[in-house]
Amino acid sequence: MKPGVCNMGCRRWTIWHRKMKEAPEYSDGIAPESGDMQAEEFRRFGHELIDWISDYFNRIEDLAVLAQIEPGDLKAKLPIAPPEKGEPMARIIADVDRLIVPALTHWSHPSFFAYFATSTSAPGIFGELLSAAFDNKAMLWRTSPASTELEEVTLDWLRQMMGLDAGYTGIIYDTASVSSMHAIAAAREGVELRIREEGMSGRKDLPLLRVYVSEHSHSSIEKGVITLGLGQRGLRKIPTDSEFRMDAKALTEAIEEDKRNGIIPFCVVATVGTTSTSSIDPVSEIVPICEKHSMWLHVDAAYAGSAAVVPELRYILDGCERADSVAVNPHKWLFTPFDLSVLFCRHMDLLGRAFSLVPEYLRTPEQANVRSGSDYGIQLGRRFRALKLWMIIRYFGHEGLAARIREHCRLAKLFTSWVNESADWEMLAPVPLALVCFRARPEIEAADEATRNERLNALNEAIMHGVNASGKALLSHTKLGDKLSLRLSIGNIRTTEKHIRQVWELLNQQLTKLR
Ligand code: PLP
Repeated sequence: MKPGVCNMGCRRWTIWHRKMKEAPEYSDGIAPESGDMQAEEFRRFGHELIDWISDYFNRIEDLAVLAQIEPGDLKAKLPIAPPEKGEPMARIIADVDRLIVPALTHWSHPSFFAYFATSTSAPGIFGELLSAAFDNKAMLWRTSPASTELEEVTLDWLRQMMGLDAGYTGIIYDTASVSSMHAIAAAREGVELRIREEGMSGRKDLPLLRVYVSEHSHSSIEKGVITLGLGQRGLRKIPTDSEFRMDAKALTEAIEEDKRNGIIPFCVVATVGTTSTSSIDPVSEIVPICEKHSMWLHVDAAYAGSAAVVPELRYILDGCERADSVAVNPHKWLFTPFDLSVLFCRHMDLLGRAFSLVPEYLRTPEQANVRSGSDYGIQLGRRFRALKLWMIIRYFGHEGLAARIREHCRLAKLFTSWVNESADWEMLAPVPLALVCFRARPEIEAADEATRNERLNALNEAIMHGVNASGKALLSHTKLGDKLSLRLSIGNIRTTEKHIRQVWELLNQQLTKLR
């Protein structure tokens, strides 16, 4: 690629490169060691950058979805020491184009189908931009009344859109890993074992405390349990049924067995939308078990929770009217730029008891009458994340968001129908939402089933790598039992039927090549 010429072929970057050579190091004679970029320069580059982002979205399909570089390639192109003197903005941005863009895996590409496909959106980008300009640290109400109050209102909108009852109050964290960890900390606080005051180590009076999850729960729950000092022994994985949902009967048996052994069961984490298959644990069956044993029920709906904004999909949260907390990630399927995760909790008092600590230098006259985000989590300063979600909900409206998610589910069903109609492919899990788990299963000669399965696993892995190496689409995989499953997740705001047809063609080309 020629220096200064965008690898997307934008003329704008050629012009920038020219300007870069002409530009003085600093405008308006301001000494480099004082003050920020001058207003005119900020305005000029601000406009250029929005143009650049617009071009990026227009041309994103010409870029490879998966970064086509080797480990260390980018580092080798970057200076090992920081610049002594400041550099012109044009040169810095030209380097974004020249060095950074080729090293990106493009999550905003409409053929990104890996992991959980997620994407940003224009109003979300504007929200991030404004939030960076305001740079509020919403630790106390007074340090950002706007952030604090907008968060309360926006999350109540989200609660209503998801059909959750008014007993839930929302709070924003960065990720679902952190949301769920905070929920488990609140649950532990409710056990009345003075863990906040006395901790867990060195205590002979403290029996083992246990959290229960399905074997398909996300690893973040185990990490949260480890972080909270409960230890991996403090997590018990419950088997799932043939559709990868927690087996409620096995849960009851595990809890009762643990109780007989002097263990304190205090929390169940059910998953609505598991990572491997998007299976939905039977929350309504788990609720009475938790109630019987006075346990906290947390629902990890990081991925699927957003789908509840679609009225006909609200059933996925059935049972949550009797749960204690629910985590949902607008940064997964509500077109919100990373990061923004929401914890809806019924017991903000317990969350506060677990985390509130107000030193003298943070005391304010109004504190008894207002909410301060830092009372409900490990962080003091908090980003103004509510702004982007507020802008997204206002721009698309409830109907617009529901329509987009509904369309993703339709595309997943369409793809599923192609798999079902083909003799060479098979489905490996139900598709309640917009994630398809499937594999190639052509006729293969093998001495026994185990050998056949091993060969199919190798074939499917090779198909996935072939598709991903083409740069035209990106898939990921999981293991279901002993079967390697390909995963096609549809959640990108720019994905249309054309992209689903393309990836189906790519998959079949790879199969023809490799079979
Ligand atoms: N829970 C589930 C069900 C997930 O699928 C994921 C990520 O994919 C997470 C939690 C973790 O999300 P985050 O990256 O926001 O911590």
